[in-house]
Amino acid sequence: MMLSAFPVTGDEQYTIGKGFVWRDITREQEVDKLKSDLISMISHEFKTPITSIKGSVETLLRREADWDEEFKQEMLTGIHEDINHIQELVNDWLDISRIEAKAIRLEREPVRPYAIIDSAIRKLPKHFACNARIESAVAENFPFMYGDRVRLGQVLSNLLINAIRYNDNVPEIKVNAGCDEKYIHISVTDNGIGISEQHLTKVFDRFYCVDAGRNRRTGGTGLGLAICKGIVEAHGGRIKVRSSQGAGSTFIVSIPKYISAGDGYEKM
Ligand code: ADP
Repeated sequence: MMLSAFPVTGDEQYTIGKGFVWRDITREQEVDKLKSDLISMISHEFKTPITSIKGSVETLLRREADWDEEFKQEMLTGIHEDINHIQELVNDWLDISRIEAKAIRLEREPVRPYAIIDSAIRKLPKHFACNARIESAVAENFPFMYGDRVRLGQVLSNLLINAIRYNDNVPEIKVNAGCDEKYIHISVTDNGIGISEQHLTKVFDRFYCVDAGRNRRTGGTGLGLAICKGIVEAHGGRIKVRSSQGAGSTFIVSIPKYISAGDGYEKM
């Protein structure tokens, strides 16, 4: 809240007192924070890949040099990775801005948890998933959620990628589902590095990362879980985490169940 004062004038235009107004500036402060986060992201996160792309391209363009194929491939692979990272940053940033502006549009329909989980596992980038063991115990006919299949797929992939990224073992990931009267609960459990108690409540904050050095090495924008939370809450759901350092983590996403109105979908 911000208190501002203004003079109160009488008939003769003399000041006869002061008026006070309380204004809720929470929203303005949030917008200011979003802007300053964007500036800091551009100055820190974008600079490194752009400088590296510039350096590689300048090297490849040097006329006098006659680079062999292997070297060229190596440089191009590096450029490709940097561009992917920039693309990820831009997409994540657009998502966060939409979420914060409450402008995220959901195309909700009855969706099977199995379909979301199966597709998220199949679409995992190969370099992430190649040595991970991912097991899903969710039956094909498990009850429907009422949600946006693309957005829910995005939540699942973020959780799976994190389960692999924050892991020093051979990643073993278990996906499970349960339900109660109102919600479908999907859990993703990993055998990774875990999260200590002091960080647990903060991991859903924008740009929060427990170990910045590790993030620099493994990629990641620090926006993934904030986006997951925004998507889940836009569905009227919740996301929680249970974890302790060195003992793996379980993320649980709860999404409203689809309740049939006699339109051909089974009633839960
Ligand atoms: P990032 O893009 O950095 O992965 P996220 O918002 O997805 O950002 O995650 C925020 C932070 O939470 C990560 O930097 C990491 O420290 C921690 N974290 C997320 N998922 C896990 C996990 N499965 N195991 C351990 N730590 C995790």
